[in-house]
Amino acid sequence: MVRKIRNFIGNEYVEPRNEGKYEVFNPAFGEVIAKVSESTKEEVDNAIDLAQEAFFKWSETPVPDRIKLLFKLQNLLYDHMDEIAEITTNEHGKTFEESKGDLIRAIQNVESASAATYHSMGVSNKNIANGIDEELIKVPLGVFAIISPFNFPSMIPFWFMPYAIALGNTVIIKPSERTPMTMEYIMGLISKAGIPKNVVQLLNGGKETVDLILENKKIVGVSFVGSTPVAKYVYNKGTSNGKRVQAGASAKNFIVVMPDADLDGSIKNIIGSFFGNAGERCLAGSVLVTFEENHDEVVDKFLKEARGLKVGYGMEKDVDMGPLIRKEHLMRVISYIESGESEGARLLLDGRKIKVEKYPNGFFLGPTIFDDVSIDMKIAKEEIFGPVASIIKAENFEHAIELVNSSQYGNASSIYTRSGYYAREYVKRVNAGNIGINIGVAAPIAFYPFAGMKNSFFGEIHPQGGFEHVDFFTDRKVVIGKWYS
Ligand code: NAD
Repeated sequence: MVRKIRNFIGNEYVEPRNEGKYEVFNPAFGEVIAKVSESTKEEVDNAIDLAQEAFFKWSETPVPDRIKLLFKLQNLLYDHMDEIAEITTNEHGKTFEESKGDLIRAIQNVESASAATYHSMGVSNKNIANGIDEELIKVPLGVFAIISPFNFPSMIPFWFMPYAIALGNTVIIKPSERTPMTMEYIMGLISKAGIPKNVVQLLNGGKETVDLILENKKIVGVSFVGSTPVAKYVYNKGTSNGKRVQAGASAKNFIVVMPDADLDGSIKNIIGSFFGNAGERCLAGSVLVTFEENHDEVVDKFLKEARGLKVGYGMEKDVDMGPLIRKEHLMRVISYIESGESEGARLLLDGRKIKVEKYPNGFFLGPTIFDDVSIDMKIAKEEIFGPVASIIKAENFEHAIELVNSSQYGNASSIYTRSGYYAREYVKRVNAGNIGINIGVAAPIAFYPFAGMKNSFFGEIHPQGGFEHVDFFTDRKVVIGKWYS
């Protein structure tokens, strides 16, 4: 009997009413380990009503008192790091070390949100007109919803939750139906930290649950991360229902290796960008841009490193790369490999040949590398979200920038160079939100925003820390006062 993932409402785990609809797999074993139900309208409305009720008291709780609870949560997350990481590896497939990295990024957001005492400060002017004082105060808004993707089960809900609650709001988290177990476990720690009842609640489900959340009038804002078509849908539906929405979306990241780059020093970093997290990362390198002068050397080193990666079950110590999330996703990535072959790219390394003897039913794919790719091929244009690298030779630096900017996406891009000139020009001219200089995964640390442009982001205010995120979770009141003696 496979168990159903529970919601977390009213400070306790609650069995969902509906039957399980979505299967949760251990992707390394290819086995179903749990099921997720869609939440009913009653369940969704009830959770939001409770969150609204909790908001009145929580928003009146002094900011330092809210922060104290975040410090407790930070400690609990550290204390339970191994258990959480194991759950993540077993439901997602990434390696144990990658799962710990996922959680560490989550914890850093708890730490960053602890600056809310400063971030919530307003401004004031005494005697701005004769006898008149004027003051701006930041106020929380109410109940926010967080809708997250499968690939970072702990980090992504934490891009939003700690800030939202530190600033006095309450939240409903709707994790991915493919990786719901990590947040299910973490909810127990949120409660143990003493965060009051219904300030943070967990509702599971998929599209139907998302629609019910977007249709509920009491939800004031939605923080979404996922694929571009769904991000657009959530953005349009949410904003037309009067909510503020921030929506991170898909990516196709170009990595440019200039002829003057320190190749030996950076090759492992470049490999990590393409094949870390099995390529299921919105910051993953996908297109590798080289030049006539360095192409052969880059390709040799890239291939050699990629061949050395061990694919397997992420809980085993020497494994570098886990499986993909689902059989269907594996088949989709394989269809991209077939399209690369039929469009005339040269397959240098074929990940389909990988066999993980111990786990024959796992959704494994090895690192795959295409050379002689041109920018109009499907593999160079569309997000693959798997361990597939496409190598394109650029004529010169100008051409490299043109290639990068031809993408419909603008999540991230990196340049490897020793030249300050190229690095500065790259930053200025490339239309991507997160830019790496000699760094292949341009992941902003928690107190910077997680940027993203073009079809990689919808909205105005980006996820994660930074002063601007305070604006998403607060509104402004301006008070103009005159006192008579
Ligand atoms: P997804 O779009 O399938 O799902 C994201 C969330 O939306 C899930 O909670 C899911 O339940 C819900 N959902 C799915 N279909 C829906 C629908 N039709 N209507 C309403 N809600 C729906 O994304 P995913 O496959 O879980 O995640 C991978 C994608 O997320 C990739 O495209 C990746 O690039 C992107 N991503 C982006 C960022 C970023 O910061 N820009 C970060 C991580 C992942």
